[in-house]
Amino acid sequence: MGNIPDSHPRKASLLSRQRIVDATKDGFLADSAMIAHGRGEAFDYLLGEKTSDSAKLAIKEVAARLIAAKKPVISVNGNTVVLAGKNIIRVAAVLNCPIEVNIYYRTEDRMEKLNSFLEKQKELLSQENSPEGWKGDWSSAVMSVKILGKVGDGRIEGLDGPRSVCSAEGIERADVILVPLEDGDRCEALVNLGKQVLVVDLNPLSRTAKMATVTIVDEISRAAELLLEYTIKNDQMPTKWNNNGILNEALEIIAKNSRTI
Ligand code: ATP
Ligand code: MG
Repeated sequence: MGNIPDSHPRKASLLSRQRIVDATKDGFLADSAMIAHGRGEAFDYLLGEKTSDSAKLAIKEVAARLIAAKKPVISVNGNTVVLAGKNIIRVAAVLNCPIEVNIYYRTEDRMEKLNSFLEKQKELLSQENSPEGWKGDWSSAVMSVKILGKVGDGRIEGLDGPRSVCSAEGIERADVILVPLEDGDRCEALVNLGKQVLVVDLNPLSRTAKMATVTIVDEISRAAELLLEYTIKNDQMPTKWNNNGILNEALEIIAKNSRTI
């Protein structure tokens, strides 16, 4: 995989796919992670594998809402950690907010692996230069990002069984939650609790995309890079957001791209 030429038009997609394959072999992901990724790839193909202008607006809105939040949290699953872990940590450092590992098929082994992977990434990131435009002590901002989730002492009301488990310090008390790649049921339960739920989902027709407060219809690694840029820029207040409008724009792009094939 290391020898895909830079000129290959779908290099980024092939590298992401390989990362998911490798992380599955290493026990970081449940087998179903590959299926979820494949569905994402299909929608990304239809969207032209680039961030649309309307997705950029959604990312700006998400940045503004996370900045304005009283108790924000970023909830990550395995795919998000593997594909965008570094930029998610950088965003959390800029926002001074915790990250919660919250996975659909919760096992102690995967929770431990994802948790220690993020802690290791934090150490590496704390030694790098601060991202462009950010001022302050980057090393201590990164190292003070709390990684929650190992202790499942909170509950998401409205869900049953292991899927209701969360961190009391994270999702349970948060007012604004960024949950890339969330499942529809959980997204609905969180919205019903009165929380703002900000999601990243390439499928504009999923229940998650439809239920969320703000949906970024974009690939998580591209979206996380822009989210970092906009969070640092911090030049916008939350707006009155029309989420259905943004989903329709994504569907328009898919329809337009489908006609040219
Ligand atoms: P829902 O539960 O919302 O009705 P679903 O059950 O069809 O949706 P899941 O399997 O719960 O879907 O989650 C996978 C979702 O994540 C898909 O909608 C897919 O498009 C999206 N997805 C997968 N990989 C990525 C990625 N890299 N970036 C953004 N979205 C992704
Ligand atoms: Mg689902």
